[in-house]
Amino acid sequence: MSPGFNQLGKDKPEMPKSMKPASPAIPLTLRKEHLSACWPEDFGSVAPLWINGAWHVHSAGTTMPCVDPTVGETLIDVAVASTEDLQAAVEAAQRAQVAWWQSDGQDRARILHRIADEIRLHAKALGMLDTLDSGRPIRDTATRDVERAARIFEFFAGTTDRLRGAVVPVQPGRTNLVEYEPMGIVGAITPWNYPLTNAAGKIAPALATGNAVILKPAEESPLSALLLAWIAHRAGLPAGLLNVLNGSGPSTGEAIVYHPDIGKITFTGSTAVGRRIGAITGELLKSVTLELGGKTGFIVFADADLDRAADALVFSAFNNAGQTCTAGSRLLVEASVAGEFVAKIADRLNDIVIGDPLEPATRIGPVISARHRDMVLAHLAAASSSGIKRFELRPRSLPKAGFYIEPSILLDVSPAAAIAQEEVFGPMITVTSFASDDEAIAIANATRYGLATTVWTNSFQRARRVSREARSGLIWINTAHSLHPGSPYGGYKQSGVGLEMGLEAIQQHMKIKSVWMQENAWRSPWA
Ligand code: NAD
Repeated sequence: MSPGFNQLGKDKPEMPKSMKPASPAIPLTLRKEHLSACWPEDFGSVAPLWINGAWHVHSAGTTMPCVDPTVGETLIDVAVASTEDLQAAVEAAQRAQVAWWQSDGQDRARILHRIADEIRLHAKALGMLDTLDSGRPIRDTATRDVERAARIFEFFAGTTDRLRGAVVPVQPGRTNLVEYEPMGIVGAITPWNYPLTNAAGKIAPALATGNAVILKPAEESPLSALLLAWIAHRAGLPAGLLNVLNGSGPSTGEAIVYHPDIGKITFTGSTAVGRRIGAITGELLKSVTLELGGKTGFIVFADADLDRAADALVFSAFNNAGQTCTAGSRLLVEASVAGEFVAKIADRLNDIVIGDPLEPATRIGPVISARHRDMVLAHLAAASSSGIKRFELRPRSLPKAGFYIEPSILLDVSPAAAIAQEEVFGPMITVTSFASDDEAIAIANATRYGLATTVWTNSFQRARRVSREARSGLIWINTAHSLHPGSPYGGYKQSGVGLEMGLEAIQQHMKIKSVWMQENAWRSPWA
């Protein structure tokens, strides 16, 4: 049964445990009705672009299908931006950005605060769109994701009248000012795993620092960004400051990266695409921020609170069906408690509800696409052929349609095994045991990635040692996935370049200008 649009975000009483066969998915017709209810107007069968503060029906007439991964069928077709659409968005952004930067920072703040309020007012629709096109459960999208998106706008709203420069004490008779200026237009390219929060994390700091934005969401999850753009406009954001252009990475994405009037690229996605964008921006000498893949080592010492650590691991690795860049997918557990700890994880996974993400009890939905499902299954099959064994979880019946994958726990995995090195991005963990603190840290660091490390221990000294020696941009001690818009977020090694969030994000969206003034009569050194 459908939860009904009005009940989204409210928990029904807990379903019986997972032995019960998964209930059939809400049918496509009803899903399309839910989708129509999200839009401010009737789009018919094609979702438009958003350019210069208005819906825009693509100039070339090309569309791409937006598939609902829960039923594996097309929900709606989405307009693909043409070169002319990109040019129209750039010109609108250029016009709007000048006045935006010249406005009082407090006026910009007021609009960003209103956007946050409007995001909360449209929580059900934003959550619904992310659940429909990405398969992330509604219990997460309409609640935590929407709230995080609103708070990201609120945090950056608080920075607009605090963008201070500096006065440098230079030679007497001269004054040197350090002034910050916006990049102009920021090109933002986002992945499909957390569509709304990824978009908010790109748009809010760029607008707060006086830039205009051209956003290209992932092909698989293009919907919530369109509604967010309309919401921002409704909240008073002047036309042209935020434009949403859908399309494929290699065409629309690269056209944005290459466009000479787009001064900065901010990208979140895979390390492979990040490397390509880094190469192009390097060639063009364009500013870039890259938030890329990860392979989080989740270290559990024998002295940890094992029950809480097991809750944390299951949330960290299986939230969003494992499709999280910081997923704790590499469990490193002290040998003396390895068996006991794995049994605790298995108990929790056996009880987890997997099914239609529109059902409020569902914790794990489908993965994003048939292609991605096949890729995850290929990783698991290769691990199995190499002799890696799985812990036998209770058999369960998954829905027949849709791109579902059963959770897996892979046992006794060598740290060098491909499955322990590659980002699988599915509902699985590898288990590797260790015998000493040195060994745990060495294994945690032995990947090309460096996004996050998680450590569970009751020893303060041990936790601090891991936090100092782990080569990753995020360290979580006795917690999992703690995030705040005020806290900087970024990776070491091949997990990225630059930072998002926090005051650190401000500089990433601004240029620094050094202004010299001479007070007394200038004398040439050659005089
Ligand atoms: P992806 O790299 O395939 O695509 C990301 C975006 O880049 C999409 O919008 C895509 O259309 C676009 N793109 C693809 N090729 C492009 C090109 N040549 N030029 C310009 N744009 C191009 O990633 P994905 O599969 O959508 O997302 C999953 C990946 O994202 C994982 O690796 C995950 O770890 C990473 N991720 C990282 C973070 C982080 O903050 N570090 C957060 C979320 C996801």
